[in-house]
Amino acid sequence: MQTIQDILQSLQQTHPNQPQFHQAVADVYQAVMPFVKRHEAYQQQALLERLLVPDRIIEFRVTWQDGDGQVHVNRGWRVQHNNALGAYKGGLRFHPSVDLDTFKFLAFEQTFKNALTGLPMGGGKGGSDFDPKGKSAADVQRFCQAFMLKLSNYIGPEQDVPAGDIGVGAREIGYLFGAYKNISGQFNGVLTGKAPASGGSCGRTEATGYGTVYFLQHMLEQHDQSLADKRCVVSGAGNVAIYTVEKLLEKNAQVLTLSDSGGTLLAKSGLTAAHLATIKQVKEVERGRLKAVAEAHDDLQFRADEKPWAVACDVAIPAATQNEMDETDAQTLHDNGVQFIAEAANMPLTAKATDYLLEQGVVIGPSKAVNAGGVAVSGLERTQNALMQSWPAEQVDRKLQDIMAHIHRSCVIHGEQEDGRVDYIRGANIAGFVKVADAMLFQGLG
Ligand code: NDP
Repeated sequence: MQTIQDILQSLQQTHPNQPQFHQAVADVYQAVMPFVKRHEAYQQQALLERLLVPDRIIEFRVTWQDGDGQVHVNRGWRVQHNNALGAYKGGLRFHPSVDLDTFKFLAFEQTFKNALTGLPMGGGKGGSDFDPKGKSAADVQRFCQAFMLKLSNYIGPEQDVPAGDIGVGAREIGYLFGAYKNISGQFNGVLTGKAPASGGSCGRTEATGYGTVYFLQHMLEQHDQSLADKRCVVSGAGNVAIYTVEKLLEKNAQVLTLSDSGGTLLAKSGLTAAHLATIKQVKEVERGRLKAVAEAHDDLQFRADEKPWAVACDVAIPAATQNEMDETDAQTLHDNGVQFIAEAANMPLTAKATDYLLEQGVVIGPSKAVNAGGVAVSGLERTQNALMQSWPAEQVDRKLQDIMAHIHRSCVIHGEQEDGRVDYIRGANIAGFVKVADAMLFQGLG
C-alpha cells in the first residue's frame, strides 16, 4: 500500500499547479489511510488511486456580448468527480479567482460530502471566472445563457445536476434554468436551487446556513455545552453566512460579526433581527456592501480590510471562501478564547491553521459535514421534482434536521476518541469514504 507521502508526491509531479486540490486530498487521505490499512477490503481495486482522478473534466470557452455590444470571453469548467452513489451533484461558482484547481478540490470534497448526507448523489462542481459583481441583471442573463449553451450537453436529471455556490444565487439559477429549458425543450430537475414556482424546494435558500447551526448544536451537545449565549463570529455576508446568522439568532446565540471582501461588520452587543433585516436588504436586494449596513445603524461598526478573527468569541464560523483563515488568524482566535469552529464555507482553514487549532484542543467541524445541509435539500428538491410534488417548508426543515443529526452520528461513530471528544475531521472523512468506496467496490472497475 502506498504511503500518503508517495501519493502527495506523485500528485505534485503530475499536477504541480493544483495546491488546493492537494490540500483537499491530504485532508481526506490523512484520515482515511490508517483506516484503509486496517481494513483490507478497501485496499482492493486501486480505490485510493482512482479517487484521485475525476471521472471527467469538461473545460470550455464562453463567449458573450454585453448590452453595449462588447464581446467578452470567459472560461467555464465542470468537474464530474465520482458518480458511484448517483448522478453528479454540486454547485456552480462564478468568481474571477477560480481555475481548474478550484473545481478539482471542490468536486473531490463534494463526493464525500454528498455521501455523508445518505442521499443518492455523486460529486461534481463547476463554474466560470465570470464576475457577476457590478454587472447589470441583463448582462448576467446574457452570460448565463452563453454558459448554459456550452454546459447543457453534459448535464441532466439522471446525469449531472448543478446548483448554486459563490456568485450563483437564485437569480443566476433562474437564468441558467430558463436557458436549459430553451435549449433542451425539457422542464425537469436538471438544476437545484430553483424558485419554488419553477420546481424549487421550500427551504433551499436557508438550508446551508440552517444546517450549519443544526450541526453546530449537535457538536456542542456532544461536548456538554449549548448554543444559547455563545459568542459567535461569522465571516462572509452571502447566502450561507446570512442564514447561519438567522438561525443563530433564533437559538439565542450572540452574533458579533459578518464580513465581505471590503471588511468586517462588528456588533459589539450582538446582531439583532433589525440589523439582519438591513443586511438582507443591502446584500440580497441591493447587492451592496456591508459598509452600508454600518452606516444605517449607530450601534454597528465597520472595520475596512479586516477579517473577523480578532474578535473574542467562543465559536467561529467561517462562511466566505477557502483558506480564509490562516495560522496567524488561528492563533489570534485561540488567544481570544475560541473553543469550537464550524466550517460553513468549503475548506476555509489552511492546513496549518487546522493543525494548530487541533493541537490547542479546539473542536473543528469540517465543511463536508457542517455545510452539507445545502446539498441535502438540493437532494430533496430532486426527489420532489421526480415525484412531481412540492413539500411544505416544515417538512423539508424536519428532513434537514434529521439529515444533519445523521451526519453528526456518522462523524461520532468514526471520530470518537478515548477521552469522549470527537475528531470530526477524521469521522467525516472516514464515514464519507466508506460509503463511496463500498459503492465503487460493488460496481467494479470504472
Ligand atoms: P455568496 O456568493 O452568496 O457569498 C460569498 C461571501 O463570501 C460574500 O460575502 C463574499 O464577499 C465573500 N467572499 C467570497 N469570496 C471571497 C474572497 N475571495 N475574499 C473575501 N471574501 C470573499 O456565496 P455562498 O454564501 O453561497 O458561499 C459561501 C461558502 O459556502 C463557499 O465556500 C461555498 O462553496 C460554500 N457553500 C455554499 C453552499 C450554498 O448552498 N450556497 C453550500 C455549501 C457550501 P463579497 O460580497 O464582497 O463578494
